[in-house]
Amino acid sequence: MQQFQHYIDGSFLNAAAQFDSLDPASGSVWAKMPQATPEDVTAAVDAADRAFNAPDWAQMTASHRGKLLHVLADLIAENAPRLAELETRDTGKIIRETSAQIAYVADFYRYYAGLADKIEGAHLPIDKPDMEVWLRREPIGVVAAIVPWNSQLFLSAVKIGPALAAGCTVVLKASEDGPAPMLEFARIFDQAGFPKGVLNVITGGPDVGAALTSHPKVAHVAFTGGPDTARHIVRNSAENLASTSLELGGKSPFIVFEDADIESAVNAQVSGIFAATGQSCVSGSRLVVHASIKDQFLARLKEKAEEVVIGAPDDMQTEVGPLCTERQRDTALDLIERSLAQGAKLITGGQPVEGEGFYFQPTILDCSEARNADSLSHEFFGPVLSVVSFETEQEAIDIANDTAFGLASGLFTKNLTRAHRMIRAIRAGIVWVNTYRAVSPIAPFGGHGLSGHGREGGLQAALDYTKIKTVWLRTSDDPIPNPFVMR
Ligand code: NAD
Repeated sequence: MQQFQHYIDGSFLNAAAQFDSLDPASGSVWAKMPQATPEDVTAAVDAADRAFNAPDWAQMTASHRGKLLHVLADLIAENAPRLAELETRDTGKIIRETSAQIAYVADFYRYYAGLADKIEGAHLPIDKPDMEVWLRREPIGVVAAIVPWNSQLFLSAVKIGPALAAGCTVVLKASEDGPAPMLEFARIFDQAGFPKGVLNVITGGPDVGAALTSHPKVAHVAFTGGPDTARHIVRNSAENLASTSLELGGKSPFIVFEDADIESAVNAQVSGIFAATGQSCVSGSRLVVHASIKDQFLARLKEKAEEVVIGAPDDMQTEVGPLCTERQRDTALDLIERSLAQGAKLITGGQPVEGEGFYFQPTILDCSEARNADSLSHEFFGPVLSVVSFETEQEAIDIANDTAFGLASGLFTKNLTRAHRMIRAIRAGIVWVNTYRAVSPIAPFGGHGLSGHGREGGLQAALDYTKIKTVWLRTSDDPIPNPFVMR
C-alpha cells in the first residue's frame, strides 16, 4: 500500500489522519492519502506567507525565478513517466493521455519561465510638471490553488506557473479524488531549488478547500471545478476580499454544417467527447448538426463509438478508461435515465460496463425531438454526447447559445464568411474552427457565465497574479510651499 505525504514549508509531513484512495479500474483501495486538518491548512498558508515576504524570494530577480521554473520544467520532463503512471493509477485517466499531457505540462512551465522577466510595469506621461509617475507590477501575494481530479498536473501548471513567474507563493489543494500525482509533483518541485514555502501541497475535501479559501492571508484564489463549488469559494473569499479566477464547467456545442468534411468532423467529435472518458471541461458534449447530414453523421459516429477500445487505463491500447469515481458513474446513469424519460433516443451505449471498476459505455443520445432533455443542459463529465439537429444558421446559433455555460465551442464548415458570422455570434470563451481541443501555453483559456471568469494561459494569466502600484515622484528641488499661507 503506497503512502503519500503533504508538502508544507519545504518538508514532507505525515498527516494526523489518512484516507483511502481507490483505483478506478478495480474499485479497490491502492494508496493512503494524507487528510489535511485545519492546523495543516494554517501551517501551509503561514509557510507561503513567510516565503512571500522572505528576502530569498521577495528580492529574487525575476530572471532568477524564471531560471528556477526552467529547472522545474526539466525535472518534470525527466520524471514524466512516473507522474503519468501515478495520474493514471489514481484517477483512471488513460496512460496514452497522461503521458502526452505531462510532456506538454513541462512546456507550460517553460512558457512561464520565459515570461517571468517580461512582466513589465509602465511609465505614464503625466499631466503635471516636475513629476515622474510609473506603475510597478508587484506579485499579488499568497495564492490558494484548488483543482479537480481530472488533469491535475495540467490544471495546476496553469496556476503555479504564472503565479511563481509573477513572484507569488502558492498553497495547492489537490483533489481528494486522485491526489497522488500532485503529492508526487511536490517531490519533484522540492528538487528544483525554490526557497522553502514557495509552494505547499495539501489534500482533503470540501472542508479543507473552505478553510484554505477563507484564510485571511490568502490574496487570490485560483479555482478549477464546478459552478456550485465556485459559489462557495466566492462566498468564502469574501472574508478577506481575495480576488478569484474561476475555471468552471461547460456544455460546449460542436456545430457541424452540411458542407463540412464529415470524416474530419466525426473524428474530432469522437475525441471531443470520449477523450478523457468525457471528464473534460471542454468536452464537445452537444453535437449541433445540420438536419441534411444528421443520419449520415450519426451512423458514422455510432460506428466509431462502438469501436472504441475500452480497457485498463495503464494499457497503451486503451482509448476509453474508467470514470474517476463511482459517484461519476452513478451521476451519468441517472442523467441518461432522466433524459430518456424526457424523450431522448438512445443511439448507442447508455450503461456502465459490466465487471469491476467505474467504466461507462460511450453513449450517444439524440435529443432532436426532446429539446428540454436534461442531458442538453447538465454537464455529465462522462462519455455522453447529446445531439440536436438544425435547419438554419440562426437556429444553430440559438441552440449553441442555449446554455448557462460559455466555455468552448467547435465549428465545422468550409464556408469562410459563415465561419466569421458564427465566430461573432457564439457566446463562448473559445471557438475552434475545423478543429477541436487544441490548447497551448500561449493561448488564453477560460469562459463566460457559469463557466467562470479569468483566463489561464498566455501573458494575461501572469498579469492576473500581479497588482499595480502607482508611484508619484516629485523631481523639483524647490521647497513645497505651505498650503495654508495666502500669497
Ligand atoms: P468540484 O467543484 O466538486 O471540486 C473541485 C475542487 O474543489 C476539489 O479539489 C474539491 O475538494 C474542492 N472543493 C469542494 N468544495 C469546496 C469548498 N466548499 N471550498 C473550496 N474547495 C472546495 O469539481 P469536481 O466535480 O471535482 O470536478 C469537475 C468539475 O470541474 C466540472 O464542472 C468540470 O467542468 C470542472 N473543470 C473545469 C475546467 C476548466 O478549466 N474550466 C477543467 C477541468 C474541470
